[in-house]
Amino acid sequence: MNSFDVVVIGSGPGGYVSAIRCAQLGFKTAIIEKYSTLGGTCLNVGCIPSKALLSSSHHYAEIAHFADHGIEVSGEVKVNLEKMIARKQAVVDQTSGGVKYLMDKNNITVLEGLGSFVDATHVAVAKADGTSETIEAKNVIIATGSKPSSLPFISIDKERIITSTEALKLTEVPKHLVIIGGGVIGIELGQVYLRLGAQVSVVEFMDRIIPGMDGALSKELTKVLKKQGMKFYTSHKVQSVERAGDVVTVKAENAKGEIITLEGDYSLVSVGRRPYTDGLNAENAGVKISERGQIEVNDHLQTSASNIYAIGDVVRGAMLAHKAEEEGTMVAEILAGQKPHIDYNLIPGVVYTWPEVAAVGQTEEQLKAAGVAYKSGSFPFKALGRARASADLDGFVKILADAKTDEVLGVHMIGARTADLIAEAVVAMEYKASAEDISRMSHAHPTFAEAIKEAALAATDNRALHV
Ligand code: FAD
Repeated sequence: MNSFDVVVIGSGPGGYVSAIRCAQLGFKTAIIEKYSTLGGTCLNVGCIPSKALLSSSHHYAEIAHFADHGIEVSGEVKVNLEKMIARKQAVVDQTSGGVKYLMDKNNITVLEGLGSFVDATHVAVAKADGTSETIEAKNVIIATGSKPSSLPFISIDKERIITSTEALKLTEVPKHLVIIGGGVIGIELGQVYLRLGAQVSVVEFMDRIIPGMDGALSKELTKVLKKQGMKFYTSHKVQSVERAGDVVTVKAENAKGEIITLEGDYSLVSVGRRPYTDGLNAENAGVKISERGQIEVNDHLQTSASNIYAIGDVVRGAMLAHKAEEEGTMVAEILAGQKPHIDYNLIPGVVYTWPEVAAVGQTEEQLKAAGVAYKSGSFPFKALGRARASADLDGFVKILADAKTDEVLGVHMIGARTADLIAEAVVAMEYKASAEDISRMSHAHPTFAEAIKEAALAATDNRALHV
């Protein structure tokens, strides 16, 4: 029987990063993946393909502004969706191949098949050809991720009533895409098809889209997306989603008890994701699963079985690739006797629409609820020379700082390239910077990053220079 120091179950960003770090630290490591491609949700049906389509559709949408830049396009410009989807798939294949390369480079044994616990130190791998192999593991890291969730009364047929997985490989641009759930995934994919010519309606139970983020971000994003033509039905509770032929009818009740009816040719159900432990037989190893379906872990990501750890979407916390990666690294280092730490408050959240939305730390709503005295400084992108040069005028940066100490407590931004700009805020907050610290650092001119400096100036005695 093959025996390993560490066996990782699941090859998403949590699992494969954890396997690499384990191998770097000298552990004999194996990784089990039930699909034939490595990389998990993120690489195959999540982060990477959605960003590839956002990128392609962004290029298409930009053509409408070419004339403003003095670029004349003659002849018909049209979308070849088949090619766009094929390009996305090529990006996915290349990236997944890159993970395989990293496994080989680090001498990690890759086992294809469904991993399930025989007991706490033995994992069976059921392969596609019907055979099974049992391996021995001193330690196991569960990184089995998540799957799209739905509502009990919706039956997802994967043709017209779809999840994000199908939305990444449609064969036609919908005429009217009705999106159920205005969270990150729904809004990103909504913008893809809006740009490609679909009518897009978003039905959201809460009173605003991207409800987990600061209210000011959701307000600005709603304003921009409305301008682009997206329709919103917030504070609407979906009651039924029915398909008849090519027509999908969504009924939802608003706050006044009135029922609205939306007819589309596709409905994307993006109401969140559920932790995935199907077939894992966690109980055989004494691993507890919570009522919400998450694997229960302590602060060291250790499960109720002392040699078994769990990371990523299958445990509590934000369902984000970089959170899974941090946890993967942390467990490997714990196993090596190190003392790593993750500050969960400093895991940034990003929406890859254009303008991009990005945030780290506490929102104004959270600070108010916690009774923290804070001050706020904002700066609009339209006041930046760089934003005017590229006509990316929407958005702002908002910095929230402690009223007494000036320590930065939260940074919230919407605008061009904020997905990348947020890294500056993470670094600053990791080092407990004050708003004044940021305001006194030189930011290259002209850049979008100047909005961060200006917002920091605004947060410290209203000293912004360019408004
Ligand atoms: P996963 O990536 O879900 O990987 C789990 C793996 O385990 C899968 O490959 C699965 O097949 C395998 N597995 C499960 N059970 C078994 C078993 N018993 N045996 C063997 N293998 C098994 N996050 C971001 O940070 N940024 C983004 O831009 C972003 N965009 C997204 C867009 C979409 C459309 C979606 C759906 C998600 C997006 N996410 C994004 C979320 C991100 O994909 C997840 O947070 C991330 O993939 C979680 O990583 P993980 O390693 O925990 O699990």
